[in-house]
Amino acid sequence: MSKRSRPSVALAWCFAARFRKKRLFFMRPELKAFTSIMLTRSALLPLLLAFSVSTCKKHENIAASPQPPNPTPKAFGVATASPSTNAAANSPAPKTTKPVVDQTAQAIVFGYHRFVTNVRHPDTEITPAVFEAQMAELKNRGITVIGMQDFLAWKRGEKNIPPRCAIITIDDGWKSQYEVAWPILKKYGYPFTMFIYTEGVRGGHFGGGEAITWEQLAEMRDAGIDIEAHSATHQDLRKPYDKVARKRLSPPEYEQWLQNEIVGCKQLLEQRLGIKVNCFAVPYGFYNEHIKEVARNAGYEAIFTVYGQPLTYNAPLNSLGRYMIEANKPKVFADAVKMIGTSTGGAAAVAEVATTNLATQPADGETVRTALPLIRANLSAMGPVDPGSVQLRVSGLGLVPASFDAKTQIVSYQVTQKLREKTCTVILSAKSSGKKIETHWTFGIEETAAATSTSPTPTPTPKK
Ligand SMILES: [Zn+2]
Repeated sequence: MSKRSRPSVALAWCFAARFRKKRLFFMRPELKAFTSIMLTRSALLPLLLAFSVSTCKKHENIAASPQPPNPTPKAFGVATASPSTNAAANSPAPKTTKPVVDQTAQAIVFGYHRFVTNVRHPDTEITPAVFEAQMAELKNRGITVIGMQDFLAWKRGEKNIPPRCAIITIDDGWKSQYEVAWPILKKYGYPFTMFIYTEGVRGGHFGGGEAITWEQLAEMRDAGIDIEAHSATHQDLRKPYDKVARKRLSPPEYEQWLQNEIVGCKQLLEQRLGIKVNCFAVPYGFYNEHIKEVARNAGYEAIFTVYGQPLTYNAPLNSLGRYMIEANKPKVFADAVKMIGTSTGGAAAVAEVATTNLATQPADGETVRTALPLIRANLSAMGPVDPGSVQLRVSGLGLVPASFDAKTQIVSYQVTQKLREKTCTVILSAKSSGKKIETHWTFGIEETAAATSTSPTPTPTPKK
């Protein structure tokens, strides 16, 4: 699958840039420390550096192995709680009839940082012209830009969204987001979400002259812009080290610090702006189970990472991937658009079939305990299928030699090479009466079963 950018070890500019402004002296030791850690990973380093990217996401891919997203849809709060559970909690429970939502819809989430005419840090910057071209492309391709809260409502089963959607998110809180990106988004009538780390707002510890101000955020809020949390000080939340205080944290101190980063940030945004914050974007995409738990307990409904992929109805809300857009990686945007483009309708008149009709195995949203699952679907619901046209694609493997039994209409493939990711997307297409039909579904692979233990990927988990 081409959807994701590959590992990167570059320190995130979005953060580093502010250090340069205000805290130059202390980014350097960090850089050194990080570099030395990476150097110990010998052979892989040059390779990783070659892929070196950028943004707040960088680290996520590395982190993806040891700290995988939990693919179990039940893992996170509201989305999985049945509607009746929620209603029951707020007695008296009104009997509301929920619409039948389109569970085959998908959304891609884009993440941006800074908008500048002269790109000097391509890993987090993009020119206004390129940004506008991307916004136009979404429109031209019939990809509907929806608001974050509409997406979450869909995930809760409360409302429908168009079949192919995009969500635009902007990280960190730079003034160019207010001055440059917002007017462009306004022009297209696109809603968007700002992920703010509170100490990066003007006047905060990292809030230098390029930072957005609270007044600007308030104005955006008044205009209906969704404002969400991105921690307090934008550090790797897995590490018991406070870079601001330059202090190694004892376990109790770490817990307290984590509370401030995850809960304090939410409270500050809510109080300062009078809003409800229900989304958390993990700095650098670094997280683990404990961080997710703290976030869940804090009342976050969704956690965003930097691991771009089309988000399905069953995508786990505690690790929603975003495509982070960088000036030097136009392919990320192109891939994202392609992914969502092929997943449903699109220009080439492809009929989408709901996986529920195909008795897929593993089922959509299911978590399996093996990295070598048997993938199977019954195509009877597709009508008469041209046996030669059946194609099965598996994320991480590509087109696989699946077998199709024309008699039973069952297509199956036994995975022989361990799946490495914690989520696996299957795309199945076939021709029926000359028409191309396609379906896709995603299942999870339990952490312990996935092949990552044998993976040569460096393990960046900090020693605690
Ligand atoms: Zn960030």
